[in-house]
Amino acid sequence: MSLYDKFRRQITDLRISVTDRCNFRCVYCRSADPENYREHDEILSWPELQRLARIFVGLGIRKVRLTGGEPMVREGLEDFISYLKGLGVQDLSMTTNGHLLADRCETLISAGLHRINISLDSLDPIKFEKITRTRSYDSVMRGIDAAQASSLAPVKVNAVLVRGFNEDEVESFGAFARERGLIMRFIEFMPLDADRHWSLNLVVPAAEIYERIHAQWPLVQIPHEQSETARKYRFADSAPGEIGLIAPVTQAFCGHCSRIRLTADGKLRTCLFSKEDRDLRALLRAQATDEEIVAWVRGVVNEKEEGHRINEPGFVPPSRTMVFIGG
Ligand code: SAM
Repeated sequence: MSLYDKFRRQITDLRISVTDRCNFRCVYCRSADPENYREHDEILSWPELQRLARIFVGLGIRKVRLTGGEPMVREGLEDFISYLKGLGVQDLSMTTNGHLLADRCETLISAGLHRINISLDSLDPIKFEKITRTRSYDSVMRGIDAAQASSLAPVKVNAVLVRGFNEDEVESFGAFARERGLIMRFIEFMPLDADRHWSLNLVVPAAEIYERIHAQWPLVQIPHEQSETARKYRFADSAPGEIGLIAPVTQAFCGHCSRIRLTADGKLRTCLFSKEDRDLRALLRAQATDEEIVAWVRGVVNEKEEGHRINEPGFVPPSRTMVFIGG
């Protein structure tokens, strides 16, 4: 059984946000103001998540990425990973801020985690503190060390650049990729920030990042799968490391999108920028059978948006921000 939308795109990737809680407060994601987390009973329980995961895998989902909020703050994460492994998920990964990673890297691997993406937006501890509003620079670095020393290598490190804030670090991140032999990925700033500060002027386009790194260390493109979000490059001088550019704003890649998202409170989103969530939790808690859930999911996926409209006049950002949607 496979899942297709009406544009004949097969959906094989599911991002599951396991919590809306986060121990960081990144400026381009969350507000400095207190925010309303969902009540605990609004968040899907582990048994509910397990049931949905089983149904989705039965529908041809091959890649699962765990995210949040910060996935590592929810107790029981490793057991859920073991469950997903038991379902035979082919590609099991997680996006984390890395703060809690160093001590748990091995238990995550034993549970069945295959790959990891660690978010890091500055190599300068002072700027890191300003961006994340935490003093966790050292623990994140220890997390990266632990991941690199483990079977999760090569580690992907994700940075969001914001014009005038950390755009000056492009070359430092390039050097970091080379020195550490890791995959350094730059994600364009998207209109998903809580404070609604986003504007096109704050986006550092992937093409600009490419030019700057290429000028210092010539890059050679690596072939990529059509549905992959990143354009990938290696260094022409054969230095270790890799550069990835993710350009949802300036070079949208919706045409080959194979992703859907499940939010921590059980809403299914067919696009990061969907105007509305579809309430799977209500169906689940109304004692729907697996067959009813499958039929509902097929109907929602069929209506997946052709693409997002960030660059079109009248674009309205989704009411929920990244910490609630799950990046
Ligand atoms: N807490 C985890 C982490 O820090 O990676 C997982 C959740 S976080 C929401 C997932 C990713 O979304 C992070 O790499 C973060 O940088 C990215 N993100 C958050 N807000 C964003 C925005 N407005 N534009 C682009 N990326 C964003």
